[in-house]
Amino acid sequence: MNLSRKGEALSPSITLAITAKAKEMKAKGIDVVSFGAGEPDFNTPLNIREAAIKAMNEGHTKYTPASGISELKKAIIKKFEIDNDLKYNESQIIISTGAKQCLANAFMAILNPGDEVLIPTPYWVSYPELVKLADGVPVFVECLKEDNFKFKIDILEKSITDKTKAILINSPNNPTGTIYSRDELIELSKFAEKHDLFIISDEIYEKLIYGDDKHISIASLSKDAFDRTIVINGMSKSYAMTGWRVGYAAGPNAVIKIMNNIQSHMTSNVCTITQYAALEALEGPQDDLYAMVDIFQGRRDLMGSMLNSMDGISYIYPQGAFYIMVNIENFIGKSYNGKKITDSLSFSGILLEEEQVAVIPGSGFGLENYIRLSYATSNDIITEGLKRLKRFTSGTK
Ligand code: PLP
Repeated sequence: MNLSRKGEALSPSITLAITAKAKEMKAKGIDVVSFGAGEPDFNTPLNIREAAIKAMNEGHTKYTPASGISELKKAIIKKFEIDNDLKYNESQIIISTGAKQCLANAFMAILNPGDEVLIPTPYWVSYPELVKLADGVPVFVECLKEDNFKFKIDILEKSITDKTKAILINSPNNPTGTIYSRDELIELSKFAEKHDLFIISDEIYEKLIYGDDKHISIASLSKDAFDRTIVINGMSKSYAMTGWRVGYAAGPNAVIKIMNNIQSHMTSNVCTITQYAALEALEGPQDDLYAMVDIFQGRRDLMGSMLNSMDGISYIYPQGAFYIMVNIENFIGKSYNGKKITDSLSFSGILLEEEQVAVIPGSGFGLENYIRLSYATSNDIITEGLKRLKRFTSGTK
């Protein structure tokens, strides 16, 4: 029998495939070092966990409005005002099952069949698939090494067609860790205005920024940008809450209303208990978040200094998130133990087989000649894994 063409056209997540292979090897007793993680390795802070228990005990165990409880929307509105200089009302906010569902809702709300969405390469693996699920067409826009893999207006201009409907911005970025500056965002907002595009601004790594860089939401840059932007954010990365499944979006009333209607039929509200936990995350003490950011910064610096000591290796300097994209082009065409490295996928496969180090090939993010390493893991694991990577790269001939 025929199955859904749309469903069959979806690619499986390469990130999950590699992580699953590493787990399988670990289960067999093999000493695997994994740099695959897309989530903090910390438990959710205690005050948040306790708020969930309290919510259950107080009977917050029933349905809520599909778009979420008013208390949480109010806390999100306050967060947007304080952190991002953005002023929303409650009808402009929706709480969803992770930033992922916010993105899925947003694409379904704005796209008609054949509408195109501009996506920078490299990109987070789910963007193109979510666009396709919403009957849209992902248009990959090449971003260059010399631009730190950020959008450049002249390249964007060449990607415009009469079907272009939206542009996707992800800052801080997964997988590169780079951040857009205010000036760059102003240029992008003018580009969106010129071509009358929606802006989808995925700001989920907003809190994970190291050093003096500041996160700026493109929606805050002008009235026009505010009116055409759907801001996506969530609790997964900042509050170590990946398993709780809670994200939120803010944007024009008309768009959020459709997102709400879609969600009301798809999944209804986010788990009620999770919503109360998220409320505590936003309103309670932020000390655990700051401590986590300090630790991530130390790990980034450790990884950077170890990578600096390896011949033939360079990387994109990450200003935020918890990933580092390592350039491996000098090893393409060479061999390790007689096994030929032809691209980032074979580099990752041979590294896993020979040195038991799991990394994600850049091809999964639309960028060949790179591998992505996550530093959401301990200093000991980073040290051991990079020692093995050094042995691997120096043994490659
Ligand atoms: N956006 C980016 C760039 C991500 O890396 C992720 C998760 O890896 C998400 C969105 C989705 O996060 P969640 O659905 O857990 O909120």
